[in-house]
Amino acid sequence: MHTQLLQPTPEGIEEAARLLREGHQVAIPTETVYGLAADGLNGTAVAGIFAAKERPIDNPLILHIADEQDWAPLVREIPENAKKLAAAYWPGPLTVILPAADCIPAEVRGGLDTVAVRFPSHPIAQAVILHAGCPLAAPSANLSGSPSPTKAARVMEDMQGRIAAVLDGGDCEVGVESTVVDLCHTPPRLLRPGGITPEMLEAVVGPIEIDDAVTHILQEGATAASPGMKYKHYAPKAQVYLVKGTPEAYARYVNAHKAPGVTALCFDEDIPHLEVPAVTYGRRDEPMEQARQIFDALRQLDEQDAQTVYAACPSLKGVGLAVYNRLIRAAAFRIINTIRVIGLTGPTGAGKSTVADAWRQLGVPVIDTDGLAREIVQPGSPCLTKLAEVFSPAVLREDGSLDRAELARRAFASPEGAQALNAITHPAIIARTQQLLEEAADSGHPVAVVDAPLLFEAGMETICHHIVAVIAPADLRQKRIMARDTLDAEAAQRRMAAQQPDSFYCRAGVSVLENTADEEALRKQAVTLWQKEEWSTP
Ligand code: AMP
Ligand code: MG
Repeated sequence: MHTQLLQPTPEGIEEAARLLREGHQVAIPTETVYGLAADGLNGTAVAGIFAAKERPIDNPLILHIADEQDWAPLVREIPENAKKLAAAYWPGPLTVILPAADCIPAEVRGGLDTVAVRFPSHPIAQAVILHAGCPLAAPSANLSGSPSPTKAARVMEDMQGRIAAVLDGGDCEVGVESTVVDLCHTPPRLLRPGGITPEMLEAVVGPIEIDDAVTHILQEGATAASPGMKYKHYAPKAQVYLVKGTPEAYARYVNAHKAPGVTALCFDEDIPHLEVPAVTYGRRDEPMEQARQIFDALRQLDEQDAQTVYAACPSLKGVGLAVYNRLIRAAAFRIINTIRVIGLTGPTGAGKSTVADAWRQLGVPVIDTDGLAREIVQPGSPCLTKLAEVFSPAVLREDGSLDRAELARRAFASPEGAQALNAITHPAIIARTQQLLEEAADSGHPVAVVDAPLLFEAGMETICHHIVAVIAPADLRQKRIMARDTLDAEAAQRRMAAQQPDSFYCRAGVSVLENTADEEALRKQAVTLWQKEEWSTP
C-alpha cells in the first residue's frame, strides 16, 4: 500500500476525511500526539487500526469527537462529573471513560462495556472529524510498544505502507497522550496522566484516585483497570534504566558506567557534567517542555544506536507525572536509585533512637523499621492475611486487628515458627523501606537512614551503602531499658540476654558509636560522625 503524505490544506483535510469515510486508516495530528484514525463506528475500519499498529486486541481505543453534541449517542449516560470536566477542559487533552452505548463496536471497547471519549482541541483534528462525519477511533500512530509520534515524519517511520495516508500538521503541542479518567468509578480514577494534571481534575470534581499502575509495575495476578497499562510501552530498542537521585548523583552514576553504547537521556542542564553521548528531553524544571520532547528523544536514541540508556528521572509534580509514567514504561520499570542508604542498628537500650533523632534534626529522612513492622500488619493487609493463614486465624482479634501476644505465643514456640514469621514480615518491611527510599529520592534527598534493630537478621545490609552500629556497656543499657520500659533489673537482663552480642554488630566496615555517658554526649557524637563522614555528604 502506498501511504500518501497529505498537507494541512482544505484539500488535504477533505482527502483525509474521504479516505476515513470509506473505511481507510489515516494518521492525523492532534494536540497530544499523532493519532491513527478510522471510522469509530465501523468495526472493520477499526480492526484495520489494530492490524496496522500490531496492537493487542484487548487494548481499547479512544473515540474522538469535534462537537459536544456528538457525545450523547456514544454513551449510556453523561453523569454530572463528566459534564463538569467537559465544560472545564474540552476541547483538550482529556479522555473520559463512561458506560458504552450499544452502537460502539466491540473492537473499540476492547471487549469492555465502557467507552473512552475525547474532544481534541487541534483545529486540523477537529476539521477532519467534522468532514468525516463520524467519531474517529484514534490511538497513537506508532507501532504498538514503540514511542508515540509527535511529528509526521515519525509516523511515516512506523506506518509507511501500512495505512492510506498521513496528514502533516507539524509538531504536537502537548507531546504525551491525553489524560484518561475513569468516571465509572467513584471517586473518579486517573488511569493515565497527561496534559490535564491531577490537580486540574481535582479542582473540578474533588478528590480523585490515582491508579497504582500509573507509577508502579502491575503486581503479578493483578488485573489492569485500563488494558493499556499492562504492556511495556514507548520503548526504544536500547535497554533504558530510570535513574533517581540528585543531579550530582545522576552525573556521577552515568560517568561511572561510561562504556561503548551507553547513552544518557537527560535534561539540558546535565550536558556539561556528562562524559557519555547524550540526548536531552528539555530543561529540568520545565515539565511541559519535557512532555513535548520525550517521545522524540526516545526515538533519537535508536538513531544514535544507543544500547544502554540511563535516563534522568523527571519530577512527578504536575505534567511531570505524565512524563514519568511514559519513561518508567520505556524503562520497563527498571529503576536505579542513587540515594545513599545509611543503616543504623544495634542492640536494644544502647541509644539507637537518640542517634536517629540527632540525624533527623539535621534534616536527614529516617525510616523507622519498627514503625513499618506495625504498619505492614494493619487490618486487611496481605501480610496479616498471610500470618493468619500460616499460624492460625486465632492471631486475629474480632475487629480484624493483630493479637500480638497470641502471635508471639504461636510463632516463638519453636525456631521454625520464628523463621516462618520472619519469612513473612521481613520481605514486606524491606519492600516498604524501598518504597520510602524512592520517595525520599524523589523529593531530592541524596542520603537517607534506615533505622533497623534487625538490620542484619533481615538481610537489609545489602541495601545499605554504609552501616552505623550503636552499642553501650551492659550496665548502662540495663538502666536505660529499666527506665524506658519500666522493668525490674531481672526482666531487663532477660531482654538483653535474648539479644545478639556487641560483636555481632561491630563487623568489618561498620562505624561504631559507643554510648558511654549521657544522652547529650551521644547526640554530639552522632552529629560529629555524620558531619565528618564522606558517605553522608551529597
Ligand atoms: P492510545 O489510544 O494508544 O492513546 O491508548 C488509549 C488508552 O486508553 C489505552 O491505554 C487504553 O487502555 C485506555 N482506554 C481506552 N478505552 C478504555 C476503556 N473503555 N476502559 C479503560 N481504559 C481505556
Ligand atoms: Mg499508544
